[in-house]
Amino acid sequence: MRRFRDKTLLVATHNAGKLEEISDLLSDFGIDVVSAAEKGLPEPEETGTTFVENARIKAHAAAKATGLPALSDDSGIEIDALNGAPGVYTADWAETPNGRDFVMAMNRTHNELLTSGVAEPWTARFCCTFVLAWPDGHDEVFPGTAEGRVTWPMRGEQGHGYDPIFVPDGYDQTFGEMDRWEKNRMSHRADAFRKLKAAFAE
Ligand code: IMP
Repeated sequence: MRRFRDKTLLVATHNAGKLEEISDLLSDFGIDVVSAAEKGLPEPEETGTTFVENARIKAHAAAKATGLPALSDDSGIEIDALNGAPGVYTADWAETPNGRDFVMAMNRTHNELLTSGVAEPWTARFCCTFVLAWPDGHDEVFPGTAEGRVTWPMRGEQGHGYDPIFVPDGYDQTFGEMDRWEKNRMSHRADAFRKLKAAFAE
């Protein structure tokens, strides 16, 4: 694995929450973090059919445009009874002309599960893939998962996205019912973060 040995890392996200999370993680390593928004980079179109492809598109576009190593991520939920859907289209299922509506997206998920005729448990996983890309075209991929199942009805007010319908393996609570600390310990993002850290360690 190629390690990160530069001073500055470009984080290829326009999402302030993600930027903060990644900056926190890397604070131990004395790295200067700049965001795609600060550099005025456009958001590239996510035309891939996998999380890795989309994360690669974002990281390479940012590395090429700035000449800096760039880190991106792509995430979503894969449901086995729906042959992996919504997968890379997880956010798209929530799109409306007035912004994202995740209650609508979760209702669609439930309706599609009923239509599939597949009996519970509806096994599923949240996935998160980080890609670290260098301006010379090299990249390293760090995938993370959280295995569990989809439950209905929605439960819990915490978290975001599809959290109210996802129960991680070994638990009865949904991600939406867990406190942030507990979820962040076992999430797909935490799993990918753990692997990513190795690229920054001395
Ligand atoms: P992206 O990674 O920004 O493309 O977004 C992927 C989508 O997956 C988000 O909009 C969320 O709906 C969903 N998602 C990713 N991670 C989580 C999570 O931890 N909880 C709930 N939903 C998530």
